[in-house]
Amino acid sequence: MISHPSEPRQQFPIDSKHPLYTLMAQLKTLKLDASYRPIEVIDALEALVLCWMDKALMLECHTEKAYSPNESFYLPAVIVLKRLVKFTYNNMQCNRHNVLWRDHNTCQYCGDIFDDKELTLDHIIPKSRGGLNTWTNIVAACKDCNQRKGDKTPQEVNMKLVRAPKKPISNVLNRCKMRTVEEIWKNYLWEFK
Ligand SMILES: [Zn+2]
Repeated sequence: MISHPSEPRQQFPIDSKHPLYTLMAQLKTLKLDASYRPIEVIDALEALVLCWMDKALMLECHTEKAYSPNESFYLPAVIVLKRLVKFTYNNMQCNRHNVLWRDHNTCQYCGDIFDDKELTLDHIIPKSRGGLNTWTNIVAACKDCNQRKGDKTPQEVNMKLVRAPKKPISNVLNRCKMRTVEEIWKNYLWEFK
């Protein structure tokens, strides 16, 4: 069901302490530009404000309905902006944050999951032996595995990688560090190179 208010509104009627605010901040909305290109994933709250300000239309809504004292409304799951957006997809940088995200916080040698602070970045071919800072040469490793591997290659110490490291595809979900895809978004998502 497509629904959006006919009257543009400037004021958001719910203050940030209201439980509804929390619900809407948790629900996510896929934002498309006027050509239906997926741009980013934003909070449903922000998406609703864009609809109310008449800058976007709601294409799909979440099943959760929100209630204010005077009205009820559906929260947007997908919105389309009324304008085209000039944007380019930057290549995702091979840094600590992104490597841990790609590897799902899983040590790529023992396969266990760790908190960020317990993980290190391991150069598969050690830096001291010419290994580069690239997506295919860096993996998340727990401190124990990293220590065990030391300044060797995995083959030299008989350690196996859980999976071969790759550069993540730079699509909208990766950029937003989303690990799950809303079913309702699938019709609107396509990958960018
Ligand atoms: Zn480990």
